[in-house]
Amino acid sequence: MFITGGVVSSLGKGIASASLGAILEARQLKVTLIKLDPYINLDPGTMSPFQHGEVFVTDDGAETDLDLGHYERFVRTTMGQANNFTTGRIYENVIRKERRGDYLGATVQVIPHITDEIKRCILEAADGADVAMVEIGGTVGDIESLPFLEAIRQLGGELGHERALFIHLTLIPYIPTSGELKSKPTQHSVKELRSIGIQPDILICRSSQPLPLGLRDKISLFTSVDKAAVISMLDADSIYRIPSLLHQEGLDKIVCDKFQLNTPLADLSGWEKVLSAMDNHTASVNVAMVGKYTELTDAYKSINEALIHAGIHTRTQVNIIYIDSEDLETPEPGCLKNIDAILVPGGFGERGIEGKICAAQFARENNVPYLGICLGMQVAVIDFAREIGLEKAHSTEFEPNTPAPVIALISEWTTDSGDLEQRDEYADKGGTMRLGGQNCHLMRGTKTYDLYGKEIIHERHRHRYEFNNNYMGMLRQAGLVFAGLSADGNLVEVVENSHHPWFIGCQFHPEFTSTPRDGHPLFSGFIRAARAYAKEMKP
Ligand code: GLN
Repeated sequence: MFITGGVVSSLGKGIASASLGAILEARQLKVTLIKLDPYINLDPGTMSPFQHGEVFVTDDGAETDLDLGHYERFVRTTMGQANNFTTGRIYENVIRKERRGDYLGATVQVIPHITDEIKRCILEAADGADVAMVEIGGTVGDIESLPFLEAIRQLGGELGHERALFIHLTLIPYIPTSGELKSKPTQHSVKELRSIGIQPDILICRSSQPLPLGLRDKISLFTSVDKAAVISMLDADSIYRIPSLLHQEGLDKIVCDKFQLNTPLADLSGWEKVLSAMDNHTASVNVAMVGKYTELTDAYKSINEALIHAGIHTRTQVNIIYIDSEDLETPEPGCLKNIDAILVPGGFGERGIEGKICAAQFARENNVPYLGICLGMQVAVIDFAREIGLEKAHSTEFEPNTPAPVIALISEWTTDSGDLEQRDEYADKGGTMRLGGQNCHLMRGTKTYDLYGKEIIHERHRHRYEFNNNYMGMLRQAGLVFAGLSADGNLVEVVENSHHPWFIGCQFHPEFTSTPRDGHPLFSGFIRAARAYAKEMKP
């Protein structure tokens, strides 16, 4: 199933694809999703979250588009390296083959060599699934997405009508002055798609008002899409309503009929539970998110969603208050007054770092529940170390010459270690990113252990710096609990403050594994602690 977008970007193609994936999965089909990004970067790993939103990390350690996060939140299939590729990656593969002589002297061209490589990558990623949904990034009409569109046109032909399906997502704008929904941009966008040889089978029309029947007829007439396959996708207050909305529109039935798939009816009970929990909150809390990209919430997409999931699982309305950490660099951080919990997310770069340390300090001193993720754990450690007398404690990422490098590259703090072999093993990794899912051992008797309810957990990483074990003894004596260690016991993964009712920092990113149906123990625990604080402790 190929999904393209028309008229404007940001229509929610990723959410629509993921939601359709969820309904098909509810019909007991094995679904996978693949995102093709037309930009030249090899992957979004180096792209600014300002421009591109968060970098999502898969279990197998790929840095991917944030749409893969939506996919994993909606379907049970685990995404990996193969589920996201860019123009840059395709060209890299082709150029490598050309250098190797694989093309036997042929002139290497966009058609067939680039399009063949795109098709190969799609089929490889689709392998093993009943239905593969292939989402093409960008909007029809963009120059850069043309090779992708040509490749899916070819693949559609090769697979034939029973095995390939084209869905086009468009916008039906509402003109308030005339009180009308307008279909013209959709007509043009489908015309554009047909001019490159793709006839959509299904149109998903995003609109703020329900589509009147007459308008569906008109769209169907102009685009040669069956009337029944002109689907309306209304704006919703939560993305988790979209699976049931699309199901009510009969989208899964249309897809299964076209593919002649005989499946049970969709069992959406898991999703209905999510919706009913969302509609029945019993309390509300304010969570301060102290970060850098405050004006652009896509930069923290998975954390925002994980907080919403925690709200679902604790029946709590979670209001996220974005605070620019630079605003906290003054001695009296007044903006932290009316909040019930503080979250410091991951991050890179020095800007606002002292403000993040202040946020950890404020939480520590005022018994405010604190969740520090990755950099958020590192700043909590820095604050703790400063408090117990290591006044100049810092991370070497920000202060390379600090006399107390409590956070540093592994290669910087293992040089005195007696175990040479281990040192070499880590020295290599020290300069690169620790990426992807890894096991972590939790200590019995810690808060984190109680939350997860098990000893071995598996969480995803994306960072270079680590807690410096040379400070372990000193900080432990002062009350820092090392609640989680890497599988080999050498790296600190979770810290807790034993003098505080709920203060946890984790080196991994729990937000990447939180889903609306299952939630996540750390986030649910955090929101329960925020509720308790709001009720019993808040001044
Ligand atoms: N910049 C820190 C590091 O590389 C933290 C990274 C993160 O928060 N994802 O270790």
